[in-house]
Amino acid sequence: LQPLANCHRAAGARVTLSAEFGQSSTFRRSGRSCGATKNRCSRRPPAGEPGVLSDTGRLAPSRRRLLMAACAASARGLATHKKPQQVVIAGGGVIGCATAYFLAKEHGIGPTIVDRKSIAAAASGNAGGFLARDWNDGSPTQEMTHRSFDLHATLAEDLKKYGATDYRRLTCVAVGVDGRTAVQKPGGKKLENVDWADSAGVMGMRPMGDESTIAQVHPRKLCDAFVAAAKDLAGASVVEGCASGLREEDGRVTGLELSDGTCIEADAVVLCMGPWSHALGRPKTEKLGLRGDSDYSGWGLQNCPLVVGTKYHAVLLQAPRVLSQSVFFQGLGDPEVYPRPDGEVYVTGSPDPADIVRDLPGETEVRDEVCDQLVAKMNVLSSELKDAPINHKQACHLPSAVDGVPVVGELRSGAYVGYGHGCWGILLAPATGEALANQIATGESPFLDLGRFDPRRF
Ligand SMILES: Cc1cc2nc3c(=O)[nH]c(=O)nc-3n(C[C@H](O)[C@H](O)[C@H](O)COP(=O)(O)OP(=O)(O)OC[C@H]3O[C@@H](n4cnc5c(N)ncnc54)[C@H](O)[C@@H]3O)c2cc1C
Repeated sequence: LQPLANCHRAAGARVTLSAEFGQSSTFRRSGRSCGATKNRCSRRPPAGEPGVLSDTGRLAPSRRRLLMAACAASARGLATHKKPQQVVIAGGGVIGCATAYFLAKEHGIGPTIVDRKSIAAAASGNAGGFLARDWNDGSPTQEMTHRSFDLHATLAEDLKKYGATDYRRLTCVAVGVDGRTAVQKPGGKKLENVDWADSAGVMGMRPMGDESTIAQVHPRKLCDAFVAAAKDLAGASVVEGCASGLREEDGRVTGLELSDGTCIEADAVVLCMGPWSHALGRPKTEKLGLRGDSDYSGWGLQNCPLVVGTKYHAVLLQAPRVLSQSVFFQGLGDPEVYPRPDGEVYVTGSPDPADIVRDLPGETEVRDEVCDQLVAKMNVLSSELKDAPINHKQACHLPSAVDGVPVVGELRSGAYVGYGHGCWGILLAPATGEALANQIATGESPFLDLGRFDPRRF
């Protein structure tokens, strides 16, 4: 049985759009490759990297590598890179928050985060928070994924004093279901090796990872902890505002313009606006047609790959006890189920077609009928979750770049971007934030080669 061969989040799944968009009308969506290559996983334990100095007084490995990278950069003439004094980040999703954290922690820079709505207002506050170390093996994000999965484990400790992130290790299985049988004869005995799902209609199952390769975190709590730490460590701040353009002088970025006509001065600007990063590459004359903001226009920046959003609904059910196995069903609309350590169970699936996002952040319409279908599926698949109380219904957009590969790096002198992480943005945020912070502060990214993610690759 290959239960997830057609998984709707499979890597490279094609996303077709209308011909409205200049760059391309067909997109590759990076996705959950569902463990197809998981056997190649090295299954290394997370790399713990304690403080700056080890017990022996030597520099901790991460600091040593930063120092070596700085020396190498200097030898190549990059020593001219000036550490910026004022950094502004547009977008308080998980990518912006992680970047702020690493700027503060590793470089003592306290950036200003500007968000149109609030921290984690969009996908970053509504995602599942599922993390898999080896599901991207063989894809362009393999190294980023390994680095990030390991960083999550370190962060679980480092961020503790700034608030719980609900990080935990857990197991995952893929379950192939014959929907018709499951609906006609729901229930049956418990599914072998899954403590909460029923066996009715199940055609086969496959382990997708254990505690060494699967983990989860609460996305909103992670964002909040990143921001609290960045404030504490280096005086970062958060302001509400709608970023609308870059101010540049003599070919260098000098500030972030806001739609109210003000400008926040900066010598480095980071653009992490999730699916709204679509605005960056559109002409300045183009009104973007956001619902509720008819004035918002393109930024007219070159080399900004187009990003689209895939709208997903999710429901949060309250289980009678804490469950600890994530399940990817195939069949019955392919629901993905992530139980959380507080007894909540996150259920998502059945995405809308990908499109340019016109909703304002945090104002995505929730269609009751889609949520009701997700609940109905759980009623069929699990007698334990049948008629469980519904804590929350939600919808948000998963941001994917034109070729399905995240867009991360320097766009032009003093301007950096980080967007398009698809269904793995929570997983990939730490490595992305760390790499961006290092590049902004030192001109180098010693732990992750950003070449593959270069915004200028098109
Ligand atoms: C249903 C669902 C489940 C998911 N589950 C997982 C999962 O289990 N694991 C995983 O790794 N990933 C998951 N993802 C993917 C992940 O949520 C996203 O990749 C990630 O949250 C994207 O983060 P971001 O910071 O790029 O963008 P966003 O979270 O979209 O944040 C962008 C921010 O920019 C702000 N903004 C927009 N325009 C402006 C402007 N003009 N000025 C200022 N601010 C602006 C918005 O208010 C918003 O806060 C899931 C996604 C969805 C939709």
